[in-house]
Amino acid sequence: MTETRPASQNYHTAVVGGGPAGLAAAIALAQAGVDTALIARRSPYADNRTTALLGGSVDFLQSLDVWRRCCDDAAALRTMRLVDDTRRLIRSPEVKFSSDEIGMEAFGYNIENRLLMVAMEACAAELPNLVRIDDEAETIATGESSIAITTKQGQTLTAALVAGADGRHSLCREAAGIGVKRRDLGQSALTLNVTHTRPHGNCSTEFHTESGPCVFVPLPGERSSIVWVLKPDEAERLKSLDDQALAIAAEKQSHSILGKLTVAPGRHVFPLAIENPDHLAAKRIALVGEAAHVLPPIGAQGLNMGLRDAADLAEIARDALLTGTDPGDDAVLQRYARARRADVFSRTFAVDMANRTLLSDFLPAQSLRAAGMHMLNSVGPLRRLAMREGLSPSWRGR
Ligand SMILES: Cc1cc2nc3c(=O)[nH]c(=O)nc-3n(C[C@H](O)[C@H](O)[C@H](O)COP(=O)(O)OP(=O)(O)OC[C@H]3O[C@@H](n4cnc5c(N)ncnc54)[C@H](O)[C@@H]3O)c2cc1C
Repeated sequence: MTETRPASQNYHTAVVGGGPAGLAAAIALAQAGVDTALIARRSPYADNRTTALLGGSVDFLQSLDVWRRCCDDAAALRTMRLVDDTRRLIRSPEVKFSSDEIGMEAFGYNIENRLLMVAMEACAAELPNLVRIDDEAETIATGESSIAITTKQGQTLTAALVAGADGRHSLCREAAGIGVKRRDLGQSALTLNVTHTRPHGNCSTEFHTESGPCVFVPLPGERSSIVWVLKPDEAERLKSLDDQALAIAAEKQSHSILGKLTVAPGRHVFPLAIENPDHLAAKRIALVGEAAHVLPPIGAQGLNMGLRDAADLAEIARDALLTGTDPGDDAVLQRYARARRADVFSRTFAVDMANRTLLSDFLPAQSLRAAGMHMLNSVGPLRRLAMREGLSPSWRGR
């Protein structure tokens, strides 16, 4: 990756935003032979989130030459347990999914985002046709034949195509004139990592409570990450507890399945929302990652979708260049939007429904949920279909 660059250079693609989705898109584009600029501040990853990389995500990271750099930092997810921990009249049976039932060694691998980012940064640094601009985009002007970007420090560049990977408050989305529907969920996710006295056995356990799921996801060794969805004031209350009190609260929520817990440094609270942009691409700008979709952390879908955005965009931009087509052409953008639409909207819908039926006090909704869980438990083909679909959409080759 080149650090210094001439002013006003023209690129095939500029990626705005260096979170995990943006970095993956920049690497994939550059490796596909697309001359790429990555506009992203270099700063240490700021929170303790982990990602359960499912199905095709690991294959994609392998194809990018990222996975070998971080696979030792990830824990295999071989079993997933869903436990109804509500005190409701109609409760669902426990459901247990095992990866060997669908002939896989693991459903995926859980890794701390900061370590995944280190591996991606190292990979990006080796790519000669990826230019890093350690800055933020300040203005993005869409034009007939290219897009002009000015950074905060006054650098300018142009690109035929922009990958808007600049997260929830996306400047790229605004520049493309794409509106967004946002719904606050009135829930927050508390994230923390713990060590424990009992082994996790590579089993991820999700307790369903009246305020949302609380999931314990394996990390390497006798460690796990916790994503605990709560009412916002309860999430803040737990966050403010001292380490010992928080460990006791988390152990109680886990029903001590992992033994005694010790809280690792760092805890964060994320207010939850669902965001759907009106379009996934327009005016030479394609949206990637959370600029394109925000959903609650249920079923570990967010970044897995972001990685599929990156993979599809790189493939489509490469194909355009190979046929001598302008990669920012409207037809190319429409191809990207078509490739991503069903995945993004079907998963957002499924996660939203799962969350709504969990929160609902409405008896028919609880019955429906219990019946669904019962069917997943007892009908083998349905359970295997649900496992495969949870990993990546069945219509994808990768
Ligand atoms: C509690 C929690 C748990 C989760 N667990 C999972 C999981 O297990 N599996 C999963 O797949 N997903 C999970 N997700 C979702 C996942 O974390 C997100 O999808 C992912 O982090 C989003 O990455 P991103 O690169 O799109 O956005 P971000 O990480 O927000 O990156 C955007 C970047 O753009 C930069 N930026 C913004 N504006 C500009 C600008 N003008 N110029 C340059 N740069 C700019 C920002 O500084 C930032 O670095 C979880 C989410 C939460 C909240």
